[in-house]
Amino acid sequence: MTHITKFTRRDFLKVTGAAAMGSIIAPMDASADSPDETVSMPMRPFGNTGVDVPILSLGGSLDLPQLILKSAFNWGVTYWDMAHSYMGGNSEKSIGKYLLKFPADRQKIFLVTKSYAWTLTEMTEELDQSLARMKTDYVDLFFVHGIGSIDELSNDMKFWAEKTKAAGKFRFFGFSTHSNMEACMLAASKLGWIDGIMMSYNYRLMHTDPMKRAVDACLKAGIGLTAMKTQGGSSFETNTETELKLARRFLKKGYTDAQAKLKAVWENPDIASVCSEMPNMTILMENVAAALNRTRLSARDTQALHQYAQNTRSDYCTGCANICESTFNGRIPISDVMRFLMYWRSYADFDRAAKKFNKIPENIRHQMAELDYSQAEQNCPQNMPIGKLIEEAIKELS
Ligand code: SF4
Repeated sequence: MTHITKFTRRDFLKVTGAAAMGSIIAPMDASADSPDETVSMPMRPFGNTGVDVPILSLGGSLDLPQLILKSAFNWGVTYWDMAHSYMGGNSEKSIGKYLLKFPADRQKIFLVTKSYAWTLTEMTEELDQSLARMKTDYVDLFFVHGIGSIDELSNDMKFWAEKTKAAGKFRFFGFSTHSNMEACMLAASKLGWIDGIMMSYNYRLMHTDPMKRAVDACLKAGIGLTAMKTQGGSSFETNTETELKLARRFLKKGYTDAQAKLKAVWENPDIASVCSEMPNMTILMENVAAALNRTRLSARDTQALHQYAQNTRSDYCTGCANICESTFNGRIPISDVMRFLMYWRSYADFDRAAKKFNKIPENIRHQMAELDYSQAEQNCPQNMPIGKLIEEAIKELS
C-alpha cells in the first residue's frame, strides 16, 4: 500500500487560491526552483508494517466537511484517524459519504479507527458499526482508545486481535494513550503483538528521558508511532515578551509558531506521522505547507522552544497520571480533568470538554470538590496548581 502522492506547486496554489495562500506557501516553499517543480508529501515507514504513511495525518474528532477530506486526499494527507466515539459517529459517517463518492480512493487511504469498549463483544460491535458507517470492509489500523495502563490489554484481547485481523477487519492493531504514555509504550514494546501506538508527543514531552526511552523501545520492537497533541497546549498568546519574541523568530523564517511545533516533532525521524485536527481549510493548508517545507528547525530554534517549555511547564499536564493520582489511590482522574481543561481553554472545544468532564461519575465529581490536593501538587513534576485547576474545571465544565 506504499505510495507517494505528488502534485505540483502550481496545482497546490490553483486548488487553494493563490492569492490567499501565497503568503503561507511562498515562504514555506522557498526552495522550489520553479512553480512547476513537483513536490511530494513526505512519507515514513509505519514501524514494521511494511506500509509508508504521510508525515501529516488528519484527525477526525470534529465535523469533517467533504471539501476538507478531498483536499487532504489531493495533497497527500491520506492517513485518516477516526474513532467510534467521535462526534457521536458523525465523523465516521462523513468518511462513509466520501468513500461512497470516491470508492477508488479507499486503497490509498490509511484508515484508522478506535474503540473505548470495555468488553471484547462490545469492541466487535463497535468495530462492525465503524466499518458500516465508513462504508468499508476493513480499517488499516485499529486502536484500543486511550489506555492508561498496559493491564488494559489482556491476553483475551490478544486472541481477539489475532482473530479479527485474520477475518480481515483490520490489518494492524494497537492503542492510543494520553496517560502514563511512556510506561504503556515501554510495556507494549515487550508484548510482541502491537503494531502501532498513538500517543501525546510534542516539544514539551519529546526531550524527557522516559519518553526518549519509550520511543526507542518501540522503534526496536517495530511499532509504528503517531504523535498527537503536538501543539503542547495552546498557541503562543503573544501577551508576554518571550512569546512575542519566539513568535517573531519563527515568522522571520517563514513559519508560524504552530508550524514550528509540528516541525519540532518531525525532527524525530522515529515518529511516523503527526495527527492533527484540521477543522478548516486554513489550518489544513498551513499544516500541509509545513509538511512540504524543507527548512529544518535550527538547533537554536529547538533550544528556544525547549526553554519556553521549561518556563511554562506549570501550564501543561504531561499525563503522568500515576504520580498525582496515586495520592488518592487512583480514584480521582486528575490527568483526564487537566486534558478536558486543555480542550476547553486551548482548543476552545467546549462541547467535547464539557461532555467528557460530565461523564465522570457524579460521586467522584463531588469528592473532587472536597479534596486537599497539596500532596499531589508536591509530587507533580510540572508544578501544576492542581487544586486550583480542579476547582476551575468544576466551575467551567460542569
Ligand atoms: S497534574 Fe502533574 S502529576 Fe498529574 S498528570 Fe499532570 S503533570 Fe503529571
